[in-house]
Parts: sequence; C-alpha cells; structure tokens
Amino acid sequence: MSDQFQPGRPIVLRGGTVLPMDASKSVLRDTDVLVVGDKIEAVGPNLSVPEGTAEIDATGGLVMPGMIDTHRHMWQTAMRGYGADWTLTQYFVFYYLQHGKSFRPEDIYAGNLLSAIEALDAGVTTTVDWSHNNHTTQHADAAVDALEAVPGRFVFAYGNIQGGAWEWATTPEFRDFVERRMHRGDMLGFQLAFDVTGDPAFPEKAAFEVARDLGANVTTHAGVWGATNDDGIRLMYDNGFMTPGNVYVHAATLSDDSYQRIAATGGSVSVSTESEQSCGQGYPPTWVLRKHNVPVSLSMDTSVWWSGDLFSAMRATLGADRSREHLEAHKNGDTVTHSHLRADQVVEYATRGGAAALGRDDLGQLAPGTKADVVLIKNDSSPVMFPLLNPYGHVAFQAQRGDVHTVLVDGKVVKSDGKLVGIDLGAARSAIESTVEYLQATLGEEAWAAGMNPDIPETKVLDNPYTYTDYRSSSTHGN
Ligand SMILES: [Zn+2]
Repeated sequence: MSDQFQPGRPIVLRGGTVLPMDASKSVLRDTDVLVVGDKIEAVGPNLSVPEGTAEIDATGGLVMPGMIDTHRHMWQTAMRGYGADWTLTQYFVFYYLQHGKSFRPEDIYAGNLLSAIEALDAGVTTTVDWSHNNHTTQHADAAVDALEAVPGRFVFAYGNIQGGAWEWATTPEFRDFVERRMHRGDMLGFQLAFDVTGDPAFPEKAAFEVARDLGANVTTHAGVWGATNDDGIRLMYDNGFMTPGNVYVHAATLSDDSYQRIAATGGSVSVSTESEQSCGQGYPPTWVLRKHNVPVSLSMDTSVWWSGDLFSAMRATLGADRSREHLEAHKNGDTVTHSHLRADQVVEYATRGGAAALGRDDLGQLAPGTKADVVLIKNDSSPVMFPLLNPYGHVAFQAQRGDVHTVLVDGKVVKSDGKLVGIDLGAARSAIESTVEYLQATLGEEAWAAGMNPDIPETKVLDNPYTYTDYRSSSTHGN
C-alpha cells in the first residue's frame, strides 16, 4: 500500500459500470464514483474532482455498494470447513450439547478475527455477528475486540446457546457488558440473538423485555425444522414482540399465517440458502417470501460449512428459487416459461435488503450522502470479466470473490488491486492455529475425527431390469 490512499484524501473510481442500487435498479455505464471522507460525494460521468483526489481505474469493472451479511456465527470460522458433511442435527450435537463449551474467549477472538477479515476480502462490508457462544461476558469481550481490530462494519448480536435467553439477558454482567462495549456507533451496531422454542410459558419474554428496554432489535432463528416453528411466531405476536427491525433467520418452515404476521409487523427474513439446502431448516424460502412481500436479506450462517461469500449466496438463492418454481409447476403438469426471481433482485437482497434489515438507509446503495462502502469487481486477467452485457446477471452468476479488486469501508480502502490493505493475516493465522491445536487436544484425536466424518447411511442400489450379462452377445453387432 502506497501513500495513494492517505486518510482524508478523496478517492474517485473512474469509468466503471456502476450499480447504484437505487429504486429503479439503474445501470450506469462509464460512470465515476467520488468518495470524500466517509461518504459518497457524487455518482456520474466525467466527474470533476477536488485537487489531489486518488484515482482508481474502474474501466472494465463493476462498482456496487458493499454487501451486507445479516447472520453469521463468526466464532465458528475457527473450524472452517470442518462440518462440510454435517446435518443440522450433527451441528446441534457438536456445538450445543458437546463441544461449544470448550471454546475459550481467545478461541472466539480467533474465529471472529478471521471471519471479519474474510468478509472484507469478499466485498462484504457489513456483517452481523450472530455471536451465540458467549457463555461468559469475557467471551463477548473477546468477540468485540476482534471486530474492533478489523476495519469493517459490524453488528454484534449477543447470544448464548449455553443458557436460556431469559437467564443470560437478565444478568448484571450482561447489562454491564452492554454499557461497557455496545455504544452502537456507526461501525458497530447491537442486537440480541436468541431463539423462541415455542414453550407455551414463553420464558423468552424476559429477554424480549430486556431488548425493548435497551432499544435493541432481536434476531431469531425462526421456522427451523425440528427446532422452531409457528408456535414461536404466535407467542411473539401475541405478546407484542414482533416489532419492526426484528430479523427472522431462515424462516423456512412456517405457515402462511406466520409469514403474514412477519410481513404485517415490519420484520424481515435473513435467508441462508446454502445453509438451508445442506442442513435441513427447510426449503430456502424466497419463493414463498416473495408471495407475501416479506423483505429479504442474505446471509452465510457459518464457515463450519461455507465461506463468507455473498456471491455464493446470490447464486444459490436464484437457483433454489427457480428450482422450486419449476418443481411446483411440473407437479401440475405445467411449464414455467418466465422466471419470477431476477438477478437484480438477489443483488438487491445482498445490498439494500441487508441495509433495510438493519435499519440503515445510509448503507446498501451508492448515492450522494450515503456511507462510502464500495466494492469494485474487476479482474483484467480473467476470461470471465467480459463481455459485460448484463451487469446484474454478471454479479450473480459470473463474478466471484477472487474478482473483488477494491473495497472501501467508511471511505477507507481496505482492499486494493486484489489485496487486503493493512490487515495482519499472519496474526489471524497464528491465532487460528492455536485454537485448532487446543480444540484437537481437548476433544482428543478420536472425537475430532469422528466429528468431522459423520457416518454415511447405507444406500441400497435399486434393482435394474436392464442389467444382464448377455447384453453384448444379444446386440446386433455381436456374433
Ligand atoms: Zn444461524
């Protein structure tokens, strides 16, 4: 990194194809984006810029707002890829019942640090840390320390799977943590993260009251097959806790009645398509959310399976939605001739949708006065960067994280020319190495290997009437 991007120096991205994510989903060819301080100053062709402005050549590239991930268990990045073959049941057993408690504050720190860095690298400028392994407030302190060490925008969603929300949310330690650490500035927001089990006694009420008292929104895994269902939604509704700003994660197995309650109360759904596809919370729900006009944002859930890459989320979401439409039509002997969900809509989910979910109208778009969280997708050595005919389609189906050339957060360059700027990846690597070493030693070799390699159920190969040994001799060519 040269002196090119000195703090305070304006920056202009010149000549890109700009997707400002305005209401009409414009595509602006050959357009400049000028950043002054922490804000977008102007978007337009051939902008005249203040003297001394740093220039970034965006020709041949796509300029869009930074992406927003509304649900990510960042601490689990310490075990990246470990659970690739898990179901949700295996995930619950591993973290909730067996090994979540083994995580020390420094392990939470290590996972969060790597996850936060990874987000910036992929052009995800805002991430909600759905931090649900805070079995002490020291764990939460470590999580926030990591978020503060990385120049991204985050929302710390405090949770704790090791206890009921009505227990941890009502402690003096929790209140003290909120007062000490959650100042809810521009770069670090705050939510409460807990699930509503459907217990008719509704013990979660106490935690909702704490959230209300603190003026914090609640994010909750809702409509998760075998875990949360319509009962939770009904209890929240009947008790007056389905407030605007609530984020319902997954919401994959709910009735129309529950979707209507979400839509009517101003909530939104964080869809984690890749997660829903592998784990089994339910079918990725955009195909039904669309019908109820429920606002959607996207999320990656956890790197114990997937990476923090919203290109992947956009692609998977389009595929899942269209698959379902075709499947439903075929059941009735019908043919889908026109797709409902479009590429520009998933790009909107990944940007403005996330901003709306977080109540941040200054994020998720490139307009004068909005925050300068900007992504330039450009890769001159890639055969996949041209022709650039359908920019939204290009973002959703063609681009990938390796094409993220430049990233700005709050007007600061955090990735330039494909490389992270001012990030100590070595420190993150050694923190992760000691966590992995510690976890392996704590679990023991056998449990570690068993956890990563779940048993495969037996598959019976079906009888095949075409399998017979004299096929060759019975063919017309044989004799
Ligand atoms: Zn989750």
